Amino acid sequence: MATADRLKAARADQKPAAGETQSAPPIAASGVALIFEESSPGRRGVDSGGGADSAKHALELLGDDLCRTDIEGFPELSEPQVLRHFLRLSQLNFGQALQFYPLGSCTMKYNPVLNDEMAALPGFASLHPATPPHLAPGALELIARMEAALAEITGMDAVSLAPAAGAQGELAGLLMIRAWEEKRGKVRRKVIIPDTAHGTNPASCTLAGFEVVVARSGPRGYLEAAEIRRLLSDDVAALMVTNPNTLGMFEPEIQEIAAALHERGAMLYLDGANMNALLGVAKPGDMGADIVHLNLHKTFSTPHGGGGPGAGPVAVKRHLEPFLPHPRIVKRADQWEFDRDRPDSIGRLRSFHGNFGMLVRAYTYILAMGGDGLAQASRHAILNAAYVRKRLEAHFPSATREPTMHECVLTHDLDTRTGVSTLDLAKRLLDFGMHPPTIYFPLVVHGALMIEPTETESLETLESFIETMERIYAEALEDPAMVKAAPHSLKLRRIDEVTAARRPVLRWNAR
Ligand SMILES: *Cc1c(COP(=O)(O)O)cnc(C)c1O
Repeated sequence: MATADRLKAARADQKPAAGETQSAPPIAASGVALIFEESSPGRRGVDSGGGADSAKHALELLGDDLCRTDIEGFPELSEPQVLRHFLRLSQLNFGQALQFYPLGSCTMKYNPVLNDEMAALPGFASLHPATPPHLAPGALELIARMEAALAEITGMDAVSLAPAAGAQGELAGLLMIRAWEEKRGKVRRKVIIPDTAHGTNPASCTLAGFEVVVARSGPRGYLEAAEIRRLLSDDVAALMVTNPNTLGMFEPEIQEIAAALHERGAMLYLDGANMNALLGVAKPGDMGADIVHLNLHKTFSTPHGGGGPGAGPVAVKRHLEPFLPHPRIVKRADQWEFDRDRPDSIGRLRSFHGNFGMLVRAYTYILAMGGDGLAQASRHAILNAAYVRKRLEAHFPSATREPTMHECVLTHDLDTRTGVSTLDLAKRLLDFGMHPPTIYFPLVVHGALMIEPTETESLETLESFIETMERIYAEALEDPAMVKAAPHSLKLRRIDEVTAARRPVLRWNAR
C-alpha cells in the first residue's frame, strides 16, 4: 500500500483513547497534512548540487551495497511545498519568539539574533569537532574565555563547559563530590535536598548513588540553618539547594548554612538554574558554594526545547578542580592543547566539547551585555516579576509574604469556589495567545502558578498578561464550564497527556 493510503487507513481506525473527554481532531483534519500525504512521485525541488551526477559518482565510489537508490515512503515534493509545509507547522507551535512565555523556573527570555549570527560564522559553524587543537586555536580560546567569564560571574575558581544540560551539570557535580571522597577513603552516602527542590536534584542524586534526605522549608518559605544542622551527620556529603529557591525567594541563611556544612565536612551544591536573578548582583562563590551549575539555555539566552541542545556548565572551587570532566584545555608555550594528565577526573560526560554552538551564543550574549548589562538584566527580571505579583495579588495572592526575586508563585481560590482548576486556567490562557506559567510546582504550594516573566518583556506585555489573568478569573466565576473546556481556539484541544507520556508515538508509521 502506498504511504499516503496506509496513513489514511491507520487514521480511519484510530479510536479515541479511554477516558478522552473531547475528540481531538487529527492534525490533517485541522488543516495541515503530513508531509508524506503531500508527496507525489517524481516531484522535486531545485537541485543546485548536480544531484544526478553526484549520486552517480557516489555509486561508483561506494558500490551498490552501500548506496540506496530508493527510500521506501520518502516524500517527494516541490521546494515551495516543503517551505509552506514547515512554515505552517511552525505556526502551530508556541514559542518565545512569537508569544509571551512566562514559564516559571525555565527563564524563557529572548534569544538574541546576534547570538545566531555569531554561531553561524563559518569558522565556528563549519569546524569539525575532531579538529586538532593547533588548527582550532580560536574555538579553544573562546572556550577558555567563556570559562573565565562564568568563573567571574559565579565567583568560582574553575569551570567545565562539557555538560549538555543543567541536569548533567548536577550529575557531574555529584560525581565530583563522590570522587573527592573516594580519594579520601570514605564515601558519605547522603545528600540533603529541600522540599521545594526541582525534580532533577533528587534524580541526579539517585543516579550518582546517593540517598536523598529531605529538608523541610521553614514557615516563611526558606531553608533554615537550624534544620540543616538537625539533619547533618558524618554520613552527609552535601546539601543541594537552588538560590533563589523555587518560590523565587533568596535564601537568607545561605552563608550560615554553608558554614554549618563545611564544619561537618560536607559541601554546598548550589543549583544555579535561577541565576537570572543574581547576575552581577550576588555570587554563589561568596555564598559558600563548592559547586554550582548554570543553564546557558536559561540565564544566558540560548534556545530551549524543541529537542535542541542545552548547555549546563559546572563551576567549582579550587579543591574540586582536579575532578572536573574531560576534556580540559591548557595553554602551553602560547599554544592551546588538551590536558591529558588528569588522573582524578570523573572522565567524559559526552562527546567533544559539549554543545559548542551554544557556547558561542552564550559568550556572544555575555560580551554584548557586558558586566553592567548583565546586572541590569537581573534587576529588570526581578522588577518584572515583582510587578506581576503585585498587580495580580487581589485574585492571585502570592504563596509567600516574603519578597521574591525573578519569579513569583501565585495561588487562587477558584477550585473551591467554582471547580475551575489551575490546569483549566492554564488551558484558557492558550486562547489568548499566551503560554501558561509553570503549574503545580513547587509541590509545596497547592494549585501553584509559577510565573517568570523575564527581563526581556515590555510593560505593555506584562499589562496584557495581567488583564488576561483578571479576565479569566471573572470568566471562571461567570461560566466555569466554558473555562473548563478551554482551549477553544487551537487546532488541538485537551490532549491525553498521560497516554502521550506513557505511550508516545515517535514515528510517523508506528501504528
Ligand atoms: C531547569 C532546572 C534544572 C534542570 O536543568 P535542565 O537544563 O533542564 O536539565 C535544575 N534545577 C532547576 C531549579 C531548574 O529550574
